Amino acid sequence: MDVPGFAIVTGAASGIGKQCAIAFVREGAAGVALLDVNYEALKEVKVEIEQMLLGLNHAKACQIEAFGISVTDEALVNETITTIATKFGRIDYVVNAAGITIKHEEGAVFASTTDWQKVIDVNLTGTFLVLRASARIMLKQERLRSSLDGRELQRGSIVNVGSIMSIVGKAMSTGYVASKHGVLGLTRTASEDYAAKGLRINTICPGYVQTPMTLGDPKAVKATQEIVDHKVPMKRLGTPNEIADSVLFLAGGRSSFVTGFALCVDGGYTER
Ligand code: NAD
Repeated sequence: MDVPGFAIVTGAASGIGKQCAIAFVREGAAGVALLDVNYEALKEVKVEIEQMLLGLNHAKACQIEAFGISVTDEALVNETITTIATKFGRIDYVVNAAGITIKHEEGAVFASTTDWQKVIDVNLTGTFLVLRASARIMLKQERLRSSLDGRELQRGSIVNVGSIMSIVGKAMSTGYVASKHGVLGLTRTASEDYAAKGLRINTICPGYVQTPMTLGDPKAVKATQEIVDHKVPMKRLGTPNEIADSVLFLAGGRSSFVTGFALCVDGGYTER
């Protein structure tokens, strides 16, 4: 995959973020910092990854760090990203996967301001805060070299996890759809700001994926199955592993001429 260097993954205690962290370790990253508000679950993921590392050749070369923080806490985000940069020496990849969803059965008119703000805070402002703190460090560092052919790559590469809801709408998901459209807007503006300075920023737009967010609530499982049957051309959910593979493509050297892009990994949903 060509991911030498050091990665930060938010939302790493579960689902897509966890799988991205595992993929960075498997593909040869030198260090991976795991961030999540659920520190108990995060500690278990750290142990799981360290056990997995024992079976890999580059075990000793990969440093795993875990930080129990909310991406909505500006001061803590700034402090944690600085701590990680000091520990690792540099930050090459950031995956902004932390996210929540709140449904409003009766649509926008009945969505409370509190619910709206919660979703915007985590999905959009959290992504902005981590992106900003990381980019400040990335822009000052030397360009990374490709582990495949030695050529100079980016100073840093950020992958924001949007959604197909960054591109299309969905009923009863007021704050979520708005936040995910915002994530794509943030990607597009920041990628243009820093493209010439060696910072790449892209968005991955997953469709329906097998994670606790989709399968955690039995009512949602039935609704999701209906969507899969009628709206997903491949007629199945994606796996976190399939999303992680595409995230690593966008993060790593194989996509060195790609920035400001929205990659839909959705079983054909947005093309139907
Ligand atoms: P998940 O619920 O399995 O994982 C989300 C993780 O984010 C959890 O570990 C949670 O603790 C963490 N988190 C929540 N709030 C946080 C905060 N304030 N600070 C730090 N961490 C926080 O969900 P997932 O499906 O793996 O979702 C990951 C990302 O993918 C989200 O941004 C989600 O919107 C997006 N996404 C998911 C799907 C899907 O079908 N599962 C589809 C499209 C996009």
